[in-house]
Amino acid sequence: MGESLRVLIVEDELALRQGLAALFEAAGHRADFAADGRSGLALALEDPPDVLVLDLGLPGLDGLSVCKAVRERADRHVPVLMLTARDALDDKLRGFGAGADDYLVKPFAGAELLARCTALSQRHRVGREHLL
Ligand code: CA
Repeated sequence: MGESLRVLIVEDELALRQGLAALFEAAGHRADFAADGRSGLALALEDPPDVLVLDLGLPGLDGLSVCKAVRERADRHVPVLMLTARDALDDKLRGFGAGADDYLVKPFAGAELLARCTALSQRHRVGREHLL
């Protein structure tokens, strides 16, 4: 098993939040949750996670707005993986335009989400080490 990650998951569907909690905990990671965009943004800024898993369709503030705000306001690069039920090319391009690092379309395999989160976090850490 690799190193333990602290992941913030912003997702409004309760069943999916519960499934993701079980998935990350079973893999030895720590997951925090928010059910809407505003509280997700507040948590991400207050205590930046190793990876932010962000649903696109959220009440209050949507995933694109949260992602843009994190990019503008966080004091470091927070790796963002965008989740969406939609798989239209436009949505993907908008996600990357808002600053997302990666993208996963629902329904997805838990193992793929874990692998992508680990990869994002490692890519970010390697980048930081090179700066030192
Ligand atoms: Ca949603």
